[in-house]
Amino acid sequence: MSLSAQHWRAGVTKPRGSRLPPPVYDAYEWQWRGACVDADPHLFFHPEGERGPARLRRDTAAQAVCARCPVVEACRQHGLAVREPYGVWGGLTEGDRERAYRRSKDPAAEVASAG
Ligand code: SF4
Repeated sequence: MSLSAQHWRAGVTKPRGSRLPPPVYDAYEWQWRGACVDADPHLFFHPEGERGPARLRRDTAAQAVCARCPVVEACRQHGLAVREPYGVWGGLTEGDRERAYRRSKDPAAEVASAG
């Protein structure tokens, strides 16, 4: 566990009234509530050279985890906003995100406004 996660789990927060930007762990605290927090990360990121049915099976299994995730919208928005190049984020595969970028100039904003 990283230091930031330890602080988050301990309930350490920014002092009230502070004008400092929020700590990074506040901006990403949703990740600790994801359904994948204890899952094997290999489920969400393809090994080198994986193609065809093997990739489809792994992506589908990862998307099944995302389908029951309480932070799926935040995760999807993050994946689109930072253009995560690899992995399943918010139930979207790499191919799903590429198609979203072709359809829209700002697919992350569309996810945010739909939520
Ligand atoms: S949406 Fe999927 S990848 Fe994102 S936090 Fe939830 S389970 Fe993990």
